[in-house]
Amino acid sequence: MELKVGDNFKCPEGHEAKILWISEDNKVVAVRCSHEHLKKVVKVSDYTGRGRHALRYWHRTSKKREIYAKNMVFLIKI
Ligand SMILES: [Zn+2]
Repeated sequence: MELKVGDNFKCPEGHEAKILWISEDNKVVAVRCSHEHLKKVVKVSDYTGRGRHALRYWHRTSKKREIYAKNMVFLIKI
């Protein structure tokens, strides 16, 4: 199945999300989901290896945020 930017793709929670970016080797896609997500789902994106700075940034901002977040972007291995 060939994917394109702008196509629909399921986010990790199973909602319908949109593809924003596809890696050159077609193994990773970034999708944005307009549904609400639990904050713990935010942590899932840390596993994609954005580095320690990104991790610390998430910790700092997540404390001020609501439990749910909308329009989150996920990196998904396909
Ligand atoms: Zn979702």
